[in-house]
Amino acid sequence: MFRALFNLIYPKICYACGEAINGELQDICVTCRAELAYLNIREFQNNPIQQLFWGRVEFEKATAFTKFEKKGKMQHLLHALKYKGIKDVGLTLGELAALEIGTTDFFNDIDVIIPVPIHAKKQKTRGYNQSHYIAQGIQNITEIAIDFDSIVKEQHTSSQTRKRRFERYENVTNTFNLLNKNKLKGKHILLVDDVVTTGSTLEACATQLQKIEGLKLSLLTISVSY
Ligand SMILES: [Zn+2]
Repeated sequence: MFRALFNLIYPKICYACGEAINGELQDICVTCRAELAYLNIREFQNNPIQQLFWGRVEFEKATAFTKFEKKGKMQHLLHALKYKGIKDVGLTLGELAALEIGTTDFFNDIDVIIPVPIHAKKQKTRGYNQSHYIAQGIQNITEIAIDFDSIVKEQHTSSQTRKRRFERYENVTNTFNLLNKNKLKGKHILLVDDVVTTGSTLEACATQLQKIEGLKLSLLTISVSY
């Protein structure tokens, strides 16, 4: 409703290519939608995100919506979402991903969606966590509940730049904190993030969640870099 009214006043543009959008479409024009680097979401057994996390995280299912390409359309979209305050891009990407992935049984037994938390400090500066909007977009299509507050990312002060890889990983691991173990006991959780590159953040978050009794975990990211 609000978006419709807003669009009457301000002409819509595509955040992937910068051209004007006509019609009912939100945030991404028809051409760009067609040209996103879609992954074959039916390849649950051998997709790039599964390969990235094998041996690192125990998961039920894992998939990504698109391949992340430097200077590609997805980079423009995620830049608008994270650094330009265009939260609606998160909703639209979440909806598009859920529509595409929802043509399989991927969402069938998921109980709760958890957007990967960002530092409270970062969230304060940015004003929001971009993954919340992606989760909300997924919820708009699937109607699966979202948990925003059972796990948080703690602030850390030590500089990571001079540490070696293993120490850096340890450092990241210690930054996620479970606040509510009971609520998630025995649930199948879908952990959602915008883009995955090394996977260390997602791995650290997943490792904390897996301390919960009987928890099952699946992973979904909008984009994966490989
Ligand atoms: Zn476009």
